[in-house]
This record gives sequence, structure tokens and C-alpha cells, in this order.
Amino acid sequence: MADISLKNINKVYPNGFQAVKDFNLEIKDQEFIIFVGPSGCGKSTTLRMIAGLEEISSGELLIDGKLMNDVEPKDRDIAMVFQNYALYPHMTVYDNMAFGLKLRKVPKDEIDKKVREAAKILDLEKLLDRKPKALSGGQRQRVAMGRAIVRNPKVFLMDEPLSNLDAKLRVQMRTEISKLHDSLGATMIYVTHDQTEAMTLGTRIVVMKDGVVQQIDTPANLYQKPCNLFVAGFIGSPQMNFLNGTLNADCTAIQVNGATIQIPPAKTKALSEKNYGGKEVILGIRPEDIHDSQIYVDTQSSSVIEAKISVYELLGAEVYLYFDYAGTQVTARVDPRTTARGGDTVKFALDMEKAHFFDKDTELTIA
Ligand code: ATP
Repeated sequence: MADISLKNINKVYPNGFQAVKDFNLEIKDQEFIIFVGPSGCGKSTTLRMIAGLEEISSGELLIDGKLMNDVEPKDRDIAMVFQNYALYPHMTVYDNMAFGLKLRKVPKDEIDKKVREAAKILDLEKLLDRKPKALSGGQRQRVAMGRAIVRNPKVFLMDEPLSNLDAKLRVQMRTEISKLHDSLGATMIYVTHDQTEAMTLGTRIVVMKDGVVQQIDTPANLYQKPCNLFVAGFIGSPQMNFLNGTLNADCTAIQVNGATIQIPPAKTKALSEKNYGGKEVILGIRPEDIHDSQIYVDTQSSSVIEAKISVYELLGAEVYLYFDYAGTQVTARVDPRTTARGGDTVKFALDMEKAHFFDKDTELTIA
């Protein structure tokens, strides 16, 4: 069992910089939690405070109900995997994995059993006699994981463990880590700035910005119901399009750059209930909710706009069309059967049921 509780955690570095502000999170046993956010948002600092590598300035860290603030890292029953693997170059794979257990004076036969078990899980059995320099990046990463697994910790902490790997290997290792989480049944906390990694691995994701938690939610909820403009823009690739506009008095349409975009009833209701009639707002729409109207129009929820395509990009299974609208570059992710090409003027159907509306000042989601 490993429930982790972070209560009003703050980190102020000695130079006075506050890297983490009032961080609150309850992690349940066996959860896979992701900390995600742009560089410098405080993800690693938070992880390091949980590991005990960084002092907690104020607030409480509890593991299984026990206060951990002043407990030594080695006594927290936590294993951490770093992005640089930190393997001992002069030791074999076997010895790298066994090292921590030897230090703890675990009996030799038990060490052997644990190392071989971990090697089996990680497909390292044939590499146990090699030194790190004779391994590929992915294999080294697996050894670093193995070193954590043999300790059988309650909690795994991982700080950008895949960032040194090439794109293909990252995808492969991502699946491996996911399987590992399922088979070990451990609680995992994983730091990344890569939103795809966050979305595919996490049972819940913590999105951070400037040391402040923005939203804690499941991947699906973060995608479909972002709480503010930042989360909406950060989660999703290519990112959500944002257009400034003014709602009409009864919130049945929004004026963007002189064009009128109709708003479906459910959204109208939410916008008018919150008294946004006649106000300036930000309209958010994801690339996949903008269709080439020659191929797809849902008459119930679509509103059609016309625009001249600047760039056409074929990615195989999909096509990205870029166009300028209301002074903003917009991306549409459309069916590859589209005949539209750069320079063409095209009618796009916006699926407004899926649109998001944000307050212009607070940037919070309205509907
Ligand atoms: P990255 O993805 O780049 O690793 P991060 O979200 O993990 O970023 P942190 O490493 O937690 O960010 O750093 C958060 C902020 O705290 C940054 O602005 C960083 O410059 C600052 N910071 C980190 N360590 C110290 C320190 N020892 N003293 C002062 N400021 C620090």
C-alpha cells in the first residue's frame, strides 16, 4: 500500500524564489500520476520533495498516513529513476541492479533472485554480464528501471526517464512503463514536459504552470473539459485554436473578424446563464473539430466559415490545413480525402458542440 498525500506544499529556494505554491494532491495506492507542464513550472522540485532530495519549505507530505517531511530519503521506501540513468560504468548490468541491495546487506541468494526476476520483466536476461557502455539507450534505461524494481519500493518516482531516447524508442519504452505499472501494482509518479507521454501513461495528470497546479484530472477530462486557457492550449497536439470574438446579446452566435459563427443551444444556455451576452470572449476549437465541409458537415452542430489555405500538410492518415483567420493562424486536421490545397479558398465546418469558451480576462473556462 502507498497512499501519498501532499498538503499545502510550498518550496521557496534559498535565493527566495518560490518554485512550488500550495500544492495539494491525494494519490491513491497504485495510481499512475503524471506531473506535466512547461520547463521551470516546478515539476521536478515537487518530485524531489517527495523523494526527500529537496527540503519542503512548508506543508505536509504523508505516505500511508505517516508524516515524511523529515524522514531520510533512504527510509521513505521510494525508488527514483532519473533521465540520465546514473548507472555505474565499471559495473555489469547485474551488479548495477544488485548494488543497492548489497548496500542494504540483503542475502546473496535473495539478491540473485530479485535481479533475475527484474531482468526477466525487463527483457535484460541476456545482457546481465555487459557493462553500460555496451548497451543501447533503451537498454540502459531498462537497467535503471531494473535497479528501482529490485528494491520493491512502495513508490516509483520517475523524472523524464525517456527524454534521452530517440522518438521511436520513447514510444516503445512508454508502452513498457505502462505494462510495468500494471504488473508491479506500485504507485508511480512520473514527471514529463511531453503532453503525449502524460496523456498515454497517466491515470491522473497534474498540469502545472509557474509553480501552481492548474488542473488535476483524468486524461480524457483534461482533453474534453480543460479548466482554463492554459490547460486547453497545453494538452492536445496540434494545439487548440483560439479566436477572439464577441458574443451576441442572446449568446446564439459569436462574431469573429466580421463573420458570424452560430453557437448550438447547449453552449448558448451555459453562456447566457453566466451572463456573457454581448461580451468579448475567447473561442477555442481543436483542429480535429474543424472539417472540410465538402467531406463532413454535421448540420446540427456545425457553423461554416470560409478561409484561404496557406499550407497543406499530408501526414498519411490525416491532413493539416493551415489558414489565417481573424489575424490568427488556425490549424484544421481533416480527412486525407480532402481535395483542398494551399492557395484554395475553402468552406470549413466548425463543430461548435465541441467548442470551448474562455473569459477574456481570467482565462477560465466558461462553457
Ligand atoms: P524542467 O522541465 O525544465 O526540468 P521543472 O518544471 O521540473 O522544469 P524545476 O526544476 O522544478 O522545474 O524548477 C522550478 C523552478 O525553480 C525553475 O524556475 C528553476 O529555475 C527554479 N529552481 C530550481 N532549483 C533551484 C535552486 N536550487 N535555487 C533557485 N531556484 C531553483
